[in-house]
Amino acid sequence: MIPFLDIRRINERHGPALAAALNDVMGRGQFILGPCLTSFENAFARYCERDHCVGVGNGLDALVLCLRAYDIGPGDEVIVPSNTFIATWLAVTMVGATIVPVEPDPYSYNIDPAAVAAAINPRTKAVIAVHLYGQPADVQALRSLTKGLDIKIIEDAAQAHGSRAHGRRAGSLGDAAAFSFYPGKNLGALGDGGAVVSNDAEFIETVRALANYGSRTKYVHSIIGQNTRLDEVQAAFLGVKLPFLDHDNAARRQVAQRYLEGLQGTGLTLPYVAPWAESVWHLFVVQHPRRDEIARILRSQGIETGVHYPTPPHLQGCYSEVFKNSRFGISEDIHRHVLSLPISPVMDPEDVEAVITQVRRATQSLM
Ligand SMILES: *Cc1c(COP(=O)(O)O)cnc(C)c1O
Repeated sequence: MIPFLDIRRINERHGPALAAALNDVMGRGQFILGPCLTSFENAFARYCERDHCVGVGNGLDALVLCLRAYDIGPGDEVIVPSNTFIATWLAVTMVGATIVPVEPDPYSYNIDPAAVAAAINPRTKAVIAVHLYGQPADVQALRSLTKGLDIKIIEDAAQAHGSRAHGRRAGSLGDAAAFSFYPGKNLGALGDGGAVVSNDAEFIETVRALANYGSRTKYVHSIIGQNTRLDEVQAAFLGVKLPFLDHDNAARRQVAQRYLEGLQGTGLTLPYVAPWAESVWHLFVVQHPRRDEIARILRSQGIETGVHYPTPPHLQGCYSEVFKNSRFGISEDIHRHVLSLPISPVMDPEDVEAVITQVRRATQSLM
């Protein structure tokens, strides 16, 4: 069996250090807003080449807090990609703002700056640039579009910890960035977690207050807050794993490189990475007109695959009424054809070769 992503094995490598971290927190008896959180926030800000970081409960809340701290709400428009994990859209809905989906570039799968340019109007308050599958979106192009306008660029970096655009880290490209530490992400906790990073100290203090009952001083509540904090145990676990992130991303890159070589000439559409971008290969996504059949054949050979994602947000039950007259053809086409091959920092080279062999066989048998 070749698993799609072996999370157990990823964490097993850190077993003793994670156990020691848990013991340490238990010994102190402080589980919320303690020294492990502060230490991880500082380390993660530095890693992202930003001045400030706030640990929060999960990636969705990180996005919501960014929008709330920028005072974005009813009557405001937020431009989002039409193909993304649904959390990007839900964050906009949760603050009562209007979702304005735009189509992706069909090669990089990331938001198309030309489509964003066409969607900008006086009600536009933010663009959420999702770094999908681990490759940074073209934030530089978005910045030149929004120059001089009161439009914030928020990175949804939930799939892109450590990736770079023009040499700069994801998380340092826009005005603010939201990260998720869901266990399956490139930097994963052993539970839920998330973070907001930015260089804007005032914005960060607002996020910190909003995430902690709207309180800057204990029992003083000046704004309507929520409760979404990164707890000490998860912060301690993340502090153990962060120093290995670059190493793990390099291991993913090696797997991706082998796939890119080994899957030439199979009729699959292979991932395209822009020359200025460094992907961290959260997912290795190929396209094929008969992807369901390929997935079935691979499964019969003991190889797990995934589909990211089977249904675009505008066709989901929760949004289908609002967007019933909208068509996002590029996005729908992508969703029909994508297939994610196994990739992880702990994948054995023999397994990578086995996947290549079996994918070649499967595509040949369908020709
Ligand atoms: C995982 C993910 C999120 C949400 O993160 P959670 O921690 O699960 O809330 C948001 N956006 C994208 C693109 C994601 O992949």
